[in-house]
Amino acid sequence: MECYYCKGDLKEGKVPYFIKRKGYQLVIDNVPAYVCQQCGEHLFREEEVDLIQRIISELEEKIREVEQRTLVLNPPLYPPHSTVTKR
Ligand SMILES: [Zn+2]
Repeated sequence: MECYYCKGDLKEGKVPYFIKRKGYQLVIDNVPAYVCQQCGEHLFREEEVDLIQRIISELEEKIREVEQRTLVLNPPLYPPHSTVTKR
């Protein structure tokens, strides 16, 4: 296999995958990829791309859930314990 950009040699390796979206950032440190020995460019297999996309859509769903939560300030059922002074 050769590099799409510079026609250099591609070797199996691991690269970080990074995305920054509205509301979150995601870094996956070691994603298997074909890495160009010449220019450092990398290609992911479809398998990893699919998996990452699944991770992202699940993540976004959970993130929306967190973001939509609201804090409800319930009045305490009992007043906080007042310091009891012993006689
Ligand atoms: Zn290259």
